Amino acid sequence: MEDDQRDEYLSFLKRRREEILRRVEGACERSGRDVSDVQLVAVSKTVGVDEVELAWQAGWRAFGENRPQELKRKLEGLAPRGEAADARFDMIGNLQVNKINQVLGNVRLIHSVSSMHLAEAISKRAEVRETVADVLVEVNVSGEESKSGLSPEEAHASFGQLLALPGISVRGLMTMAPRGDAARARSTFAGLRELRDELRADLGCELEVLSCGMSDDFTIAIEEGSTLVRLGRCVFDPGYALD
Ligand SMILES: *Cc1c(COP(=O)(O)O)cnc(C)c1O
Repeated sequence: MEDDQRDEYLSFLKRRREEILRRVEGACERSGRDVSDVQLVAVSKTVGVDEVELAWQAGWRAFGENRPQELKRKLEGLAPRGEAADARFDMIGNLQVNKINQVLGNVRLIHSVSSMHLAEAISKRAEVRETVADVLVEVNVSGEESKSGLSPEEAHASFGQLLALPGISVRGLMTMAPRGDAARARSTFAGLRELRDELRADLGCELEVLSCGMSDDFTIAIEEGSTLVRLGRCVFDPGYALD
């Protein structure tokens, strides 16, 4: 990026971040929650290393990627860039078994453990590396065919097994809401929270992280208990209109 472009984009990122923080605060106030209970992850999957570096300068600290190859590109690109090398990344997308080793040790959290099979595969590889991966279990709360994740019934049936796997630490649940329908988004997020409460009561696990809410629906997600919102377009795209 040219210097003047960088300056202009950085001021957009700062301004936009303030607008997002105000909406997060508003949602927390409406639902009697503390802003410190909601983590913000900037989803950088559609932008380059320069944009991530500028986002770091604008105040973002945690980023999300959905492809291992792109994660690697960002990590390598940021490594020589001073403080921005401290950016932390989460894996938020579908993870193929043969890509697990590219991700282990390089991310703070894997959001998208969408099957028992994947959980077992991560567990095995983490054990070999003598590490423990923090993960979230993806749940298809809305029941849409296009969405991945365990059904709530499957989650109930297999959670005990998931918690017992060595090499992974299940920190919570993740879901995606149907697009463009605020009422269904709300019931999806509420459903995720209720499932968490049931699993907590049944199994005594903490499951402190609820990863839900994206650009279009993060305020609704926070009102329904989200502890981690994943924001892509509204952070990085000047053409995205925040409402
Ligand atoms: C792309 C993506 C996001 C961010 O979506 P926006 O609508 O751009 O905020 C969040 N979560 C996942 C899993 C994604 O793939």
